[in-house]
Amino acid sequence: MPGFELFGAEEKKEVQDVLDNGVLMRYGFDPMRNGHHKALELERDLAKRMQTKYAQVVSSGTAALTVALASAGIGSGDEVIMPTFTFVASFEAILSVGAIPVLCDIDDTLTLAPEAVENAVTPKTKAIMPVHMCGSMADLKALKAICDKHHLILLEDACQAIGGTYEGKPLGSYGDLGCFSFDFVKTVTCGEGGGLITNSKEFADRAHKYQDHGHDHVGNDRGAETHPFLGYNYRLSELHAAVGIAQLRKLDHTIEIQKKNYTILRNALTSIPEVTFRRVPENGVESYAFLNIFLPTEHLARKAHKALGGHGVDACFYWFDNNWHYYKKWEHLLEQKSLGSLSSEIQIGLKKNNTSFDTSDVWMGRTVSCLIKLGWTEDEVTTRASKMVEAIQSIL
Ligand SMILES: *Cc1c(COP(=O)(O)O)cnc(C)c1O
Repeated sequence: MPGFELFGAEEKKEVQDVLDNGVLMRYGFDPMRNGHHKALELERDLAKRMQTKYAQVVSSGTAALTVALASAGIGSGDEVIMPTFTFVASFEAILSVGAIPVLCDIDDTLTLAPEAVENAVTPKTKAIMPVHMCGSMADLKALKAICDKHHLILLEDACQAIGGTYEGKPLGSYGDLGCFSFDFVKTVTCGEGGGLITNSKEFADRAHKYQDHGHDHVGNDRGAETHPFLGYNYRLSELHAAVGIAQLRKLDHTIEIQKKNYTILRNALTSIPEVTFRRVPENGVESYAFLNIFLPTEHLARKAHKALGGHGVDACFYWFDNNWHYYKKWEHLLEQKSLGSLSSEIQIGLKKNNTSFDTSDVWMGRTVSCLIKLGWTEDEVTTRASKMVEAIQSIL
């Protein structure tokens, strides 16, 4: 998954353009730019690649989620349904606009279980935020049907699955809004950065203003611009955007490498009847950023994870015990440990999450995820494949 494995002359050239003119900010200073507008260019490229009308780049994936929520008009007291398995950024973004993250079970797709989502909808629900974890997607058709029925926003967190598709559409482009992260470990990286995509003119228009203190971006005198509503600063710098441009151009190539490496590993593991694979919803194509497998029980999954490490197979994760990606270890959220006080609305709303998520526990307990790297040689991948088979067989 990490795009930094493919850094080269292309990234350097784009950054050099920015250093040559010295304008590190995306707005203003037009006479000095020599025609370079890297953030704008990255937005055009992103919208084109993702087949959406609009794209907005921002300073992180978390910022993309925050700006997307704000642009959809989500705020104080609104509930947003999100999965128990995701990176903490999902609930941070929801809290940051004053809304309430409502945790919801996952299923064998390792993403939101549609029946559980339907049961979690209340009159306060404003949005459903599926997270396409580890290279594959949620059952977007079923989630969209729930959104249509209850008039909710469908916001896709596609930070870990850029380049995958659903019903032929790039992940992130199926819902009302979709978000990507370009942080250092993501498939497309610019150090720190993120982007949102949408086909809604209204959301796109709000997004560019909100991420820049509410600036309306009319005319070419920043100081004279008006502020139609409150905003914040989530801007991406030109230096970061420059790296992103070169990285995004490599995305199709990156996905090809991921698919090739993933397929070699997956084919090898199919020889073990006890190993099954994470379900990919019908008409979905993974980004192949991870290979996600199920062992028959939690006990065997723990042993398999340990054995993989013992056989020198690095970059395999047992998310069930992870501090950052699974609700069980989010005690700072569940116990409401915030620096300042949270609003009473949020304090009450968050209590909903203090329950058990048994279905999630069953699937996560059985899951081992292996990162697919880009720099492996074919030899390294085949050796890795046999080591994985050996490791898993040793515990069965
Ligand atoms: C990385 C990530 C984010 C946040 O992205 P940052 O750019 O690190 O803020 C959000 N959601 C998921 C699922 C992620 O993996």
